[in-house]
Amino acid sequence: MTALVASQRPVYHLYRFAWAGLDWLYPPYCGGCGKAGQRWCLDCQQNVQLLPANVCPRCGDVVKSTGLCEQCRANPPTYEALRSWAIFSGSLRNALHRLKYKRDIALGEILARHLIALYLSLKWDVDIVVPTPIGVARRAERGYNQATLLALPLALAIGKPLRLHALRKIRETRTQVGLSLAERRSNVHQAFQANIEMVRSKSVLIIDDVATSGATIQACATALLEAGARRVFGLTLARAALDLA
Ligand SMILES: [Zn+2]
Ligand SMILES: [Zn+2]
Repeated sequence: MTALVASQRPVYHLYRFAWAGLDWLYPPYCGGCGKAGQRWCLDCQQNVQLLPANVCPRCGDVVKSTGLCEQCRANPPTYEALRSWAIFSGSLRNALHRLKYKRDIALGEILARHLIALYLSLKWDVDIVVPTPIGVARRAERGYNQATLLALPLALAIGKPLRLHALRKIRETRTQVGLSLAERRSNVHQAFQANIEMVRSKSVLIIDDVATSGATIQACATALLEAGARRVFGLTLARAALDLA
């Protein structure tokens, strides 16, 4: 499938058109720098640091040599592959913060365009699109799941069903910030449960805003595979460096 085919899907076209209409009614501010006029300005776009081409084929982490990274060689992940669009820094970091905590939900549509382009370049074969779930308490407090705001336009653009209830977070976890890899893994271990009817024999694409160690995607993938999913891929907009300091 090419980008052209995706851009011609009428429902996706309509979705983008609706957001453009809202921009006209309520002129937006850039989610990256606050400048008036656009949801995501050209300066912020040009400041994005894309991930280098040389990444580990499984976890998508930046590697110096080719082939699997040390971590994946020692401990292969349960998912097939995880990829991200850009480094979690600067204006992208600001925009994702606004998308997650400041109810700047219009950013989902515009940033998802990059996820769509990335997905199409990867030629993965998926049946359903699933956002990484958040817990019930966090959902009630925030009112929405930021991963869904990226997953919905992507699902519309690629013509695959969005399954909001395929994964459920069954316990709250503490923030992964400042945790080591082992702590991150145990923090999210068995935190998710998949719906067997929805995922059985399916190739699943999980969407999230940011990945760091990939521990959350890994925990989701494990739950999906235990429920009978055929295989699992993960796509995130940003990739943060694991800060073990
Ligand atoms: Zn900007
Ligand atoms: Zn790896």
